[in-house]
This record gives sequence, structure tokens and C-alpha cells, in this order.
Amino acid sequence: MSAHTSSTAGQPIPVTLIPGDGIGPEITRATKEVLAALGAPFLWDEQKAGVHALEDEGTPLPDATLRSLERTRLALKAPLATPSGTGFRSVNVTLRQKFDLYANIRPARTLLPRDDLRRYDRLDIVLIRENIEGYYAARDYYLPQGDDPQGMALSAGYTTRAECERIVTHAFDHALAHGRRKVTLVHKANILKLMSGLFLETGRKVAARYEGRIACDERIVDACAMQLCLDPSQFDVIVTTNLFGDILSDQISGLTGGLGLAPGANIGKDMAIFEAVHGSAPDIAGQNRANPTALLLAGALMLDHTNHAALATRLRTAIIQTLQNGTRTGDLGGTATTDQFTRAVINALERP
Ligand code: NAD
Repeated sequence: MSAHTSSTAGQPIPVTLIPGDGIGPEITRATKEVLAALGAPFLWDEQKAGVHALEDEGTPLPDATLRSLERTRLALKAPLATPSGTGFRSVNVTLRQKFDLYANIRPARTLLPRDDLRRYDRLDIVLIRENIEGYYAARDYYLPQGDDPQGMALSAGYTTRAECERIVTHAFDHALAHGRRKVTLVHKANILKLMSGLFLETGRKVAARYEGRIACDERIVDACAMQLCLDPSQFDVIVTTNLFGDILSDQISGLTGGLGLAPGANIGKDMAIFEAVHGSAPDIAGQNRANPTALLLAGALMLDHTNHAALATRLRTAIIQTLQNGTRTGDLGGTATTDQFTRAVINALERP
């Protein structure tokens, strides 16, 4: 992955920390406490973004936050709220595009096997999503229809050959580096013949370079969604375009127990932002009910990224023990508060 190999001679690693909106501050506090108990070598530079920043600073992405990111090139980011339909452009999308964070890595593994969902017991899939093109880079327009000046909405997304090559190569290299056996190209080239067709055609050419080392197959996105429900064991690494990746990764997180468990990494050539896959959960914000696991697991990915794999493993083990011992937040059918869950993970770290 890259630029931040590790802390030299025990030096702390500067990290921009964005507590974000909704449940963001609660799960950020929990994550800071757990990482401190673990002895993770991060030096936090806390900065604002999202609705919270708009209210306090008059902009959802203040200059101070950008300067911090330019300096640290490494961030842990809680969810940021984005108004739907109208309002400011997604800060998440802006950050990915501005810092060329082209690969969104979303690993999903069953942490909590359920008797009623046995087919998802051993789910272990890494979804790799192209992060800066497609409809997320689209220009939206209204066109008149009859006497309605906004009777038609047009969204012009795009895909480039260079970006398809870069993301599929990233997926194959990820598979090689992590001992995985297969990459599945997910597309909709039967309908979006040019935009999705370019991804498929380029992906096949990249796959040929890895022949004999990593297997490759293909799925149309709708069939892929159905097959993920019926038999997820047929998937290993999935690589796909921006919108399909966003949807499929939420689906996969649902199969493993819900959004509260799913971490993600936005990776560029010399920068990385780690985050929870879920949003700001305004329905439970400020109630001490949020599950901090996804952001904690994002912290574990950041430990891996900075060459602290042993700490990452200790953290994951403590989280799994806590969940399997029955301390769970409401989204997983439990009664633990955010604080109680956090304390239980810290106890598990201290008494493995
Ligand atoms: P959401 O993920 O915030 O919530 C969906 C459901 O899952 C809600 O019922 C929520 O309570 C629950 N949930 C999510 N995370 C949880 C957690 N950690 N613990 C317990 N329950 C949890 O999705 P949404 O409601 O569609 O979006 C809310 C806002 O978040 C929107 O403004 C959206 O744009 C934003 N969003 C941000 C990001 C990000 O910053 N990466 C990602 C997705 C959505």
C-alpha cells in the first residue's frame, strides 16, 4: 500500500483524525480510547469536516483540515453527513478525488457466526472499488421536458482506460500480496456497453498478466448480488466500478452482520484515509448506542498499513472475543452501550 511504512525508531506517526457528524464523535472517542490502550503509535491531529464543520466554520471542508491531510498523508475519518439531492457536494467524494485515493478497499469477514445464517459463517471477501470515476464524478444537469424546465435529469459519468487498468492491477496485486486465489471482475457491460465495457475489456487484459498466479472470473452486477446471497463462498476478491462497489460492499457487510462491522480504506499512491463503511446514523446519534466496531477495524487496517500487523491482530482478536462473549450493541441484537462495548474491548486487550 504505501507511503507510511512504519514509525521510525518508535517515533509516533502523525494522523489526521476527523470525528465527523452524527455518531462520528462517539465512535471516534471509543476508537481513540481503544487504540491508546493498545499502545498504537499514532499522534492525532484532530480536524473538522462535514455538516459539523459547515456550522462552525462556514465550510464542510476547512483549509486547516486540508493542510493537516497534506502534511500527514494519513487519516482516520468517521462518517460525514451529506445532504441528499441538494446542498454541498460530498466531502468524502471531494477528498477521494482531490488526493487521488483511487482504490477503496472494503474487507468483509464473518466475526459473529449466526445459527440462522449458516451460509454466511465463513464469509471472507475483499471488495475493491474504483473510487474516483463513474457516476461519482458525474456532472448532473436538468433538461426541459414540455413546460417543466427540470423535467429530465441527466447524469454524465465516465470511465477511463487508465483508471480501469490501475484499479484492476491494484486488485490483482492485493490478491497476490494477501495470499488470495481469485479476482472477480464485476460489471454491467451488457447494458452500459461503453462505460462498463471499457472496464471489462481492460480488466481482462490485466488479468492475462497474472495468469497462472491468480485466477479471474466475471459477473454481471445483478447476478453477482444474487449469488452473494445464495453462496458467497464462490467469491474471494471482487473488483468493480464506483457505484456498483458502493452498493455491493453494503450488501456484503449486511451478510456479515451489518454496517456496524464494516471498515474501509481509501488508498492512493502516497496517501491513505481509513474509515467506517457506514454513514453518520443520525437516527441514533448522541444516544450512546452506536457500534464502534467498524471504525475500530478501520484502525486495525491503518495499523496493518503502517507495518504494525501484530498490534492489528491483537486489536481484531479483542474485538472478536468481545463480540463472541456476548457484549454487543443494539444493531447486533445486544444491549451494550457504546461505552460498555468500548470498555469490554479494552478489558479484552488487557486480559487476552
Ligand atoms: P447510515 O449508514 O448512517 O445508517 C443506516 C442504518 O444503519 C441506520 O439505521 C443506522 O442507525 C445504522 N447504523 C449505521 N452505522 C451504525 C453503527 N456504527 N452502529 C449502529 N447502527 C448503525 O446510512 P444513511 O442513514 O443512509 O446515511 C446517513 C448519512 O451518512 C447521510 O448523510 C449519508 O450521506 C452519510 N454517509 C456517509 C458515509 C461516510 O462518511 N463514509 C457513508 C455513507 C453515508
